[in-house]
Amino acid sequence: MERLCGCGPYTCPVIDLHTHSRASDGTDDPAQVLEAAAAAGVRVVALTDHDTTAGWRQAAEAVGRTGVALVRGTEISTRARTADGGVSVHLLSYLHDPDDPALRAEWDRTRTSRMDRARRMVDLLAQDYPLTWDDVVEQTGDEATVGRPHLADALVVAGVVASRDEAFATMLHAGSRYYVGHYAPDVAGAVRAVVAAGGVPVMAHPGAGKRGRIVDDETIAALADAGLAGLEVDHRDHDAPTRDRLRALARDLGLLVTGSSDYHGTGKLNRIGEHTTAPEVLEEIEARGTLGVVRP
Ligand SMILES: [Zn+2]
Ligand SMILES: [Zn+2]
Repeated sequence: MERLCGCGPYTCPVIDLHTHSRASDGTDDPAQVLEAAAAAGVRVVALTDHDTTAGWRQAAEAVGRTGVALVRGTEISTRARTADGGVSVHLLSYLHDPDDPALRAEWDRTRTSRMDRARRMVDLLAQDYPLTWDDVVEQTGDEATVGRPHLADALVVAGVVASRDEAFATMLHAGSRYYVGHYAPDVAGAVRAVVAAGGVPVMAHPGAGKRGRIVDDETIAALADAGLAGLEVDHRDHDAPTRDRLRALARDLGLLVTGSSDYHGTGKLNRIGEHTTAPEVLEEIEARGTLGVVRP
């Protein structure tokens, strides 16, 4: 593979810009994410829990002990408007002001809506399966919003399914009769809000067709005009042709290209550091962001 960085073969740092902790739907505490990174040889990790910055402080406290540098981030649930409803889009934001009022208001609204929808999904599931709200809360981190992965974990504990994947495939997917939607802000508005908060917006897994519908190239071009900084190209949900296509699109639009694991602890098969981002891309993200990288 083409080397883009100027580091020697043994000094090039392994950089993974997309992970989750128990502050959302990962299974590790924020500090454990950095420990897992250190154990895997990852030198820079971004913590990007869904619609929250709740894990940042604990993760930052683990930087000195683990020697792993921390990029503070958030994965924002958004929606791209289409003629026939909308497409769910995950937007990574890096190095934004965590106290920005507009971002906080949107995340509060999204989290409240996610909690309501989780309760409604549990009500529906409880009609057919041995599942209670308390079972689900037991699977959820202290500060985390209850999400479908926690419902899945509770269904595994109840013996209804064998794994999170099976739960999603059989009863938690968007087409299931147990599925309930939740509020999400418009993606172009979210891109502008991230930039206004001093953050660097990168679209997460833009070609992950297995997860559901994806946005077209025209939508991505419009988002680039709105301030989108990059595309997450190297991700396990993209096959080789999809990566080639996205890399070419990023080049055409002048967007940064990132690669990341989307690590969720034991919640998913994704191994921390399985995909990585070039050092000069991180440099550019840091130059544009209002916060710095927390270094050991
Ligand atoms: Zn995502
Ligand atoms: Zn993610």
